[in-house]
Amino acid sequence: MKRHVVVVGAGIVGACCAGWLQRKGFDVTLIERDRPGEATSFGNAGSLSPAAILPVAMPGMHRDIPGWLLDPLGPLTVRWSYLPRALPWLLRFLLRANTKAMWHTGNSMRPLLRDLYACYEPLVKNAGVEDLIRRVGTLYVYDSEAEFAASAPVERMRRQVGARIDDVTPADIQ
Ligand SMILES: Cc1cc2nc3c(=O)[nH]c(=O)nc-3n(C[C@H](O)[C@H](O)[C@H](O)COP(=O)(O)OP(=O)(O)OC[C@H]3O[C@@H](n4cnc5c(N)ncnc54)[C@H](O)[C@@H]3O)c2cc1C
Repeated sequence: MKRHVVVVGAGIVGACCAGWLQRKGFDVTLIERDRPGEATSFGNAGSLSPAAILPVAMPGMHRDIPGWLLDPLGPLTVRWSYLPRALPWLLRFLLRANTKAMWHTGNSMRPLLRDLYACYEPLVKNAGVEDLIRRVGTLYVYDSEAEFAASAPVERMRRQVGARIDDVTPADIQ
């Protein structure tokens, strides 16, 4: 008898779990309270990268926070009325912004992302959307030599996961 599995949440994670369970011979029911693929999975950058193992909470980021908050186009916005609710989470997040936690996250993510393309391949093929996947590189741009130098531990980590990294100059990019 076929076993039946219920997956809750039809974002990319639930959809992939459901797809793989189906391929393994399970009957699958995928439950979504809103519309499939319209939560976080809707608004992302669409990048599939085995080297994207770094956490968002990075060492030294606390130094940038005041500047981010003052910049209307900065990457961090806090709705002050929401701050009391968000504060415990934000503090836990900041406590993880250290080198030890960065390596811990990176090393945990490595095996998860190593076979990323192979895992997506049958699902993508089955959905007939191979044309949506393009295997191209990623360009990281730094504002200054100092910023580039500060990224050394991150670059080391990316190389460790097998990413091929070429250093390019502004002239090369242009
Ligand atoms: C700005 C931004 C850019 C990003 N860029 C990238 C990127 O380039 N590459 C990358 O790999 N990742 C990226 N990410 C991260 C990525 O988008 C998320 O990790 C991913 O979408 C999470 O998928 P999910 O299925 O876990 O969550 P979701 O897509 O949020 O899906 C969860 C689903 O569960 C449903 N749900 C929740 N509770 C219930 C319930 N009780 N009953 C029924 N349904 C329920 C929700 O309605 C939702 O549809 C980005 C994220 C952001 C915010």
